[in-house]
Amino acid sequence: MKDKLNKIEEAALQSAVAAVTEVELQQVRARYLGRKGEITAVMKGMGQLIPEERPLVGALANEVKDRLEAAFTERQEGLRQELMQQSLASEKLDVTLPGRVQRRGYKHPITQVTEEIVAIFAALGFGVVEGPEIEKDFYNFEALNIPKDHPARDMQDTFYVTEDVVLRTHTSPVQVRTMLEHEPPVRVVAPGTVYRRDSDITHSPMFHQVEGFLVDRKVTFGDLKGILTTFINEFFGQNVDVRFRPSFFPFTEPSAEVDIQCVICGGSGCRVCGHSGWLEILGSGMIDPEVFKSVNYDPELYSGFAFGMGIERVAMLKYGVNDLRLFFENDLRFLKQF
Ligand SMILES: [Zn+2]
Repeated sequence: MKDKLNKIEEAALQSAVAAVTEVELQQVRARYLGRKGEITAVMKGMGQLIPEERPLVGALANEVKDRLEAAFTERQEGLRQELMQQSLASEKLDVTLPGRVQRRGYKHPITQVTEEIVAIFAALGFGVVEGPEIEKDFYNFEALNIPKDHPARDMQDTFYVTEDVVLRTHTSPVQVRTMLEHEPPVRVVAPGTVYRRDSDITHSPMFHQVEGFLVDRKVTFGDLKGILTTFINEFFGQNVDVRFRPSFFPFTEPSAEVDIQCVICGGSGCRVCGHSGWLEILGSGMIDPEVFKSVNYDPELYSGFAFGMGIERVAMLKYGVNDLRLFFENDLRFLKQF
């Protein structure tokens, strides 16, 4: 009986060491110490022993049982430690790994060009003003010397909200609003979104302009030329030729279109410039005395000039973009290049 107990103990200890999970260990424990376990069976079978042997075997069986309990508990502790070590090892933080980079957005090319234009004029002493995109007919047309029957007011060209309210077709109403609020001298640029019923590779129903004007005593066409030439040389480069060409706008007199030497062919003539060697980039002129009257400036005392340009157009010329619609298609392959 003593030998049998020793063999059971030995086998139980080996099984405990062989168990690699807590579940396996519990099964081993049940096999030896459970209600139907081998040690339990020995203890239950002591009734068949001769009375003198019973205390001896009983004591021995209890010792084996105690030792096995201790061994199983120790093994269970060991398994838990191993498990913890493993999970710590697999979850280890490697602080030397590069972080997950959150990709940052950046400004839209039209915003970048707008800011560049505004910064150049700011350096020339111009402030920045803004106005509403939904505009009264008076500010958009009437005060700018564009009468009711003028073709620019045609339903074909303008988005009408009501009979007297439009989506502004240019940034010039900001000029009117500013002059109504401020006495000369004024010197501001007004960037913003404008709307016209037009859509092709050089037109979008929604586009952007920068309007600028300067009013003071004794402002001359020479001032206009000086300011605009300085701007163009800052924006397109010091060696770009500039040309002022007579034109007509209802709110300026005299008026001039401003051309730059073609940035694509350098003036020798190409498809982009229509083989003329020149590209029109902005409209300008001396503010019409009629405009001054509608904003209560004395045309005998003050003079000034105004100019306006399409931001998409100068952006297209600066970056060689051949379709204006690309700016608004939200295609990152295009936008990423700026
Ligand atoms: Zn050209």
